[in-house]
Amino acid sequence: MNQAMIDIESLSRKPNAMVVSIGAVIFDPTTDEIKKRFYKEVDIRSYTNLGIDRDIEPDTVLWWMEQSDEARKAISKSKITIISALKGLKLFLGVMGVPLTARRVWANAPVFDCVILRDVYQQIGMTPPWNFRNDMCYRTLKNLYPEITIPREGVHHNALSDAEWQAKHLMKIMNHMIEIQPTQEVTK
Ligand SMILES: [Mg+2]
Repeated sequence: MNQAMIDIESLSRKPNAMVVSIGAVIFDPTTDEIKKRFYKEVDIRSYTNLGIDRDIEPDTVLWWMEQSDEARKAISKSKITIISALKGLKLFLGVMGVPLTARRVWANAPVFDCVILRDVYQQIGMTPPWNFRNDMCYRTLKNLYPEITIPREGVHHNALSDAEWQAKHLMKIMNHMIEIQPTQEVTK
């Protein structure tokens, strides 16, 4: 069944953080395939223009100053509004072909990415395109199986690179779980 991995970059670590970019992939763990990719950079001025108040944390801004030029490119003034980005993500998750109430959305960790995204969806009056009951925690699995690794690809702290790499790593962990528990049914 298709599942999604999402990753956001933000200017704060709080649930009401200002989101600067959203990356997501649809993947199928039964075939180990990345099927579709989504990436949007948000014009951070759009929050002020639309009257949407979100948190910016000085520590996070200072952290961004130390990241690579490639990663920092996501914080830009020439891209789309937060509302367009969220509508885009909603359409993208629709492509999963799974009813909204059954869509599994993974993140590293959902208490960060999923919570912040749901909060901003709710703030602008849109229904989040997945149910909180289907938040799936990649961070838990990677910490339970630290011996399962894959080479890092792409740009660190680019939301799409992070989401794609996390999904590939997750599928490797899922395969490992099946190998070590052959008598138990692991549903992918
Ligand atoms: Mg990231």
